[in-house]
Amino acid sequence: MGKIGRRTSSVGDPGGNRRIVWVTTRSTIEWTEQSWNPCTGCTKVSPGCQNCFAERMALRLKAMGMKAYANGFTLTVHPDRLNAPLLRRKPTVYFVNSMSDVFHKAVPDEFIDRIFAVMTQTPRHIYQLLTKRADRMARFLSSREVPHNVWIGVTVENRDHGLPRMATLKTIDAPVRFLCMEPLLEDLGDLDLAGIHWVIVGGESGPRARPMRPAWVQSIKDQCDLGQVPFFFKQWGVWGPDGRRRSRKANGRRLLGRTWDDMPACGPGEPRTGEAIQIRNAAHVKGSQGGLTAATKQRSARPWGSLPKGCNKMRSYRSATAPGRRIMCMERQQGHTAPPA
Ligand code: SF4
Repeated sequence: MGKIGRRTSSVGDPGGNRRIVWVTTRSTIEWTEQSWNPCTGCTKVSPGCQNCFAERMALRLKAMGMKAYANGFTLTVHPDRLNAPLLRRKPTVYFVNSMSDVFHKAVPDEFIDRIFAVMTQTPRHIYQLLTKRADRMARFLSSREVPHNVWIGVTVENRDHGLPRMATLKTIDAPVRFLCMEPLLEDLGDLDLAGIHWVIVGGESGPRARPMRPAWVQSIKDQCDLGQVPFFFKQWGVWGPDGRRRSRKANGRRLLGRTWDDMPACGPGEPRTGEAIQIRNAAHVKGSQGGLTAATKQRSARPWGSLPKGCNKMRSYRSATAPGRRIMCMERQQGHTAPPA
């Protein structure tokens, strides 16, 4: 379902002791910051799973002798990983279970409740919860409230499997409902995007990747524009817009001459529905080995001029529905109108 970074994290436990644990990983996925995997392993449910990256990665990590992946791609819950977001003070956007599916039938309700308890206890973080098991998610959430910092989404890779998931997603009361159209496998036709707050589109990578046609992407983007739904174009994958196969990096993630990185507003106290933002935070533009490239540093140089006194860890974004630039202090969780540059 997602990709995993290369880093382990060093954290202190509540007793003040230092220890090295595989807590969360810096993600290479463009629309998140970190992966948090309290579960690993899964089983395939639809054509979008055919070339599952998580499966390939889990088997590789098992071969490398990583203890957490001793079961390979068999679903495994990891209670020892539940506390990881509690230990991280820096407000972070987490992709929950990039190596599994939270709503897989083998994950007990009690364990999902424990995941939600951690998310509720850490309102400083944003959690992105993506599933292909929309029915179970709807059943589970029918008797529970979705915390304000949890975004819920479903994969929509084709019409047959994806569109029913989207319909189910819309029945769930949540601050942000999003669609991940990756790998996009066909033209999705006319979409009813009412009640959807974010759309991600991406092509497939890997040796058996299937191509994604530019016209399919264009149709989705046009419909997002019409419905004022934030649109995020993740990548072409290994098939370029010209229909030629090359590396994922070489094909890049530009569409119509630019990148599209809109996201729902994510600051506490900010409107969360249907408002497009462009996060300029360097953390969303990955440099090599966790460092920042010169271009990234330049992009993240404070475009808004001087910061309000005492605030740091700023994110700058442009609102689609309000004029001017806004900045958000993720540490103090305050929003400000940007001062003139
Ligand atoms: S649901 Fe996601 S993690 Fe599970 S098999 Fe399908 S693609 Fe892989």
